Amino acid sequence: MAVKTLKNVLTQKQQDFVLALSTEIKTQDNLATTSPYVIINTQNRVQVRPEGWADDYYLSLDFETKVHDVDTLISYARDNGYEIFSYWLTESFDGELKDFLALDIDDGLKKVISEYQDFCNDHDIDIVYYEEEQEASKNDINVFFTHKAYKEHIEANSHHYNEPKSYLKHLFRNPEMEGVLDVVHTLAHTIELESERVCVYSQYEHTSKLWITGCDNTLVNPDYLNVWDFCPACGGKISLRKEQK
Ligand SMILES: [Zn+2]
Repeated sequence: MAVKTLKNVLTQKQQDFVLALSTEIKTQDNLATTSPYVIINTQNRVQVRPEGWADDYYLSLDFETKVHDVDTLISYARDNGYEIFSYWLTESFDGELKDFLALDIDDGLKKVISEYQDFCNDHDIDIVYYEEEQEASKNDINVFFTHKAYKEHIEANSHHYNEPKSYLKHLFRNPEMEGVLDVVHTLAHTIELESERVCVYSQYEHTSKLWITGCDNTLVNPDYLNVWDFCPACGGKISLRKEQK
């Protein structure tokens, strides 16, 4: 029989995909943005700035370790044999200085540097000023139609990103994306209509033989009805009606 329905063209998996995608797009929070839009991933990026150009800072140890608080500095100093350093921070002031530094994070690490300038120079310990920004990088740009797909991607690939955040971006004057989304919603609507359709087959006896005709009046082998989930001609659910002829 001729192919007349989406059910003849798309696999069940493809139909499920289109229906789920269309429903999710229509029901998700679009953050007051008109279609077409996509959800992109941005990452937290640390931009190093000259002193005076950024408020945040960390201590750079051995050019690779970033220390943001005094407690981490003490652990690092102990683990790496900077005994003078850790002694100064933990013991010499009976912990009082440590408490003071930890309470006042903003100035604590700076105080360490100024008090032990020569030591810090000798051990490649320096203050690095920085700003944090959310940025989309061309190296790992990825786009999604739904927040749901974005979240699933991030959860499965979290090791790949640094504090990722989603950003919903309107696609200004993008007829291709408008067209793609229009097709998705139209396909989904058609699949829904097809699943509600009922097709009537007629069953009757003629010269002691059982005859069945489909919706397009062709004769149908009764065995086929046990196999078909839906009418191959119109896509409707098959309902059998007995007729007198
Ligand atoms: Zn039919």
